[in-house]
Amino acid sequence: MEDCTFCKIIKGEIPSEKVYEDEEILAFKDIHPAAPIHILVIPKKHIATLMDVTPEDSNIMAKILESIQKIVKKLGIEENGFRLIANCGPASGQEVMHIHFHLLAGRKMGPKIIS
Ligand code: AMP
Ligand code: ZN
Repeated sequence: MEDCTFCKIIKGEIPSEKVYEDEEILAFKDIHPAAPIHILVIPKKHIATLMDVTPEDSNIMAKILESIQKIVKKLGIEENGFRLIANCGPASGQEVMHIHFHLLAGRKMGPKIIS
């Protein structure tokens, strides 16, 4: 998608601090970190929102979770733990219309529901 910030990051047209990359998945540091560790994990395939995921994407969704496990192990935060957030649609405040999972760690997280 031409106007998609995350597609531009995938293509290298916008710089990013990559944390993990394989054929289908990219993870990079959030530009406005909300925790000492704040990583965005995205599929390289452009999917606008979680509601646009189809059965055809099952493999990609599984790969995202596998990548998150690899990143967590690589960063050594397995024991302390982390929080995973995915916004979907206007009420959630989703700003970038390319699905992404926020991986947050490195501090004690607040209440379970994020404002
Ligand atoms: P969301 O509100 O769930 O759509 O989150 C979008 C996230 O993308 C925000 O936390 C932004 O800080 C982050 N973001 C936007 N542009 C960039 C960028 N160029 N590099 C890294 N993170 C970005
Ligand atoms: Zn995109």
